[in-house]
Amino acid sequence: MFRSHTCGELRTAHSKTEVTLSGWVQGVRDKGFMIYVDLRDRYGITQLYFDEESTPKAIMLKAQKLGREFVIQAKGTVVERASKNPNIPTGDIEVLVSELTILNTSLVPPFTIEDKTDGGDDLRMKYRYLDIRRNPVKESLIFRHKVAQAVRNYLSNEGFIEVETPYLIKSTPEGARDFVVPSRMNEGQFYALPQSPQTFKQLLMVGGMDKYFQIVKCFRDEDLRADRQPEFTQIDCEMAFVEQEDILNTFEGLTRHLLKEINGVEVEKFPRMLYDDAMRLYGNDKPDIRFGMQFGELNDVAQHKDFNVFNNAELVVGIAVPGANSFTRKEIDKLIDWVKRPQIGALGMVYCRCNEDGTFKSSVDKFYNQEDLAKWAEITRAKPGDLICVLSGETDKVRAQLSALRMEMAERLGLRKSNEFAPLWIMDFPLLEWDEETERFHAMHHPFTSPKPGQLDLLDTNPGDVKANAYDLVLNGNEIGGGSIRIHDKPTQAIMLKHLGFSEKEARAQFGFLMDAFEYGAPPHGGIAFGLDRLVAILGGQETIRDFIAFPKNNSGRDVMIDAPAPIDEEQLEELSLKLNLKAK
Ligand code: ASP
Repeated sequence: MFRSHTCGELRTAHSKTEVTLSGWVQGVRDKGFMIYVDLRDRYGITQLYFDEESTPKAIMLKAQKLGREFVIQAKGTVVERASKNPNIPTGDIEVLVSELTILNTSLVPPFTIEDKTDGGDDLRMKYRYLDIRRNPVKESLIFRHKVAQAVRNYLSNEGFIEVETPYLIKSTPEGARDFVVPSRMNEGQFYALPQSPQTFKQLLMVGGMDKYFQIVKCFRDEDLRADRQPEFTQIDCEMAFVEQEDILNTFEGLTRHLLKEINGVEVEKFPRMLYDDAMRLYGNDKPDIRFGMQFGELNDVAQHKDFNVFNNAELVVGIAVPGANSFTRKEIDKLIDWVKRPQIGALGMVYCRCNEDGTFKSSVDKFYNQEDLAKWAEITRAKPGDLICVLSGETDKVRAQLSALRMEMAERLGLRKSNEFAPLWIMDFPLLEWDEETERFHAMHHPFTSPKPGQLDLLDTNPGDVKANAYDLVLNGNEIGGGSIRIHDKPTQAIMLKHLGFSEKEARAQFGFLMDAFEYGAPPHGGIAFGLDRLVAILGGQETIRDFIAFPKNNSGRDVMIDAPAPIDEEQLEELSLKLNLKAK
């Protein structure tokens, strides 16, 4: 028996009990005639105590040799401490050790195993197993477990069945590149790792499973923006015989359950916003609505003067930053530099100070009088003391720029509070999205999303205007889930694929299996997928997902601990009939 109790368990009530504990040495305080050892396991820390008077000499000597992270087993008696430590749950007691076994020694760890460590990111990732011993990482993983467990309980109670789908599949287009796996047995052929189980969950609906979910890994070979992982986890769900409303209600239920269960927060019915409105009011399809600063479009009130920057712009749009009239000229100049950085890309920024006395002072006073500026204030809902920031240019670009500024200002003003939760459904996404690079339309969600009823014909005339039965769930400015009502008949799916630029032959080759299935009585169906990593991070009040993933990859998609990806042997290549043709970078 390695242990009778954990290191987090013993209290005064256990006094005089004989116990056996096992764990890691957090630290040793050797006072010569007395030695204290903090023994740690997942459950906590217990103080071990050795003293010259009562501890056999051999054990004293052994205790003196203990180093940080040694793995030991200690037997002894629980004793109430003379000076208690109120900071830890076991702080009222200590264990007077009578037997000590060193189960394993340890090198000196490359960073301190403390809540605040001296280890940088790279080092922590290389020795992730040591990092996981630290409370913040350990707690994050336990937190993730709790969320996953709550998800499983909820969905299971709602009649969902967890079904596993394969990883070695054929491409499922979710808008990223596939990771591919060569097949040894099928020379020259490749599997693709799923970007999501999309087609499989639809086939499960054709198979009559009715309500499916899976906590599942997905793989997307994208250039890694900050805080993205090439493999990530989805809570993937699908339901048959449902309309959009059924899905929204079910998964609003799940999200509400999680907020209550995990965060103890009760949320009212989730507000809903049309995609077009989100873009107009926040310049973004995942607005953070914990704070205001809604966009005010100023074309009508700003394009009638001689200010050509505005006159030539497709959109002139502003936000009122609360209280920011207190910014000094220098601070505002810095802000202007901020929006002009290449990452944001604005050409400049016009501002208008809203003074406490109701007057205005703008950077374009030459062109606009008090009356004009009062209209700006009215439209942006600016109050005395605010600063109106105005950008202009091409609609899409300007919206993205102002949205970035809005988030930045909220961050600086402390308006993004991690303990406040503002969920929001975004509805009626466009079905298609124009891609500048390839100069054609792409599915905004994926090719299996159905258009709004009656809009199929619009695909021929105004494809960009067709709206989809698609929805996203947004939480605190993050997209945490997205889904749609699917196409469930072959002719519609064929039309959709045609509009996405697939020839009949290509459509057949890639999605023949799904189209065939639709011919055998596919029920109406729809679903959603949540990004579990992000969801967990938000519920945990954190911005980054890394600490909620046991073994994350770095920004270059590398696992620096196991050193992957890595070359493979000549022999393996041979076996796979592969030849490398590396281009020097
Ligand atoms: N497969 C979709 C995704 O990964 C989710 C869905 O449509 O259910 O975003």
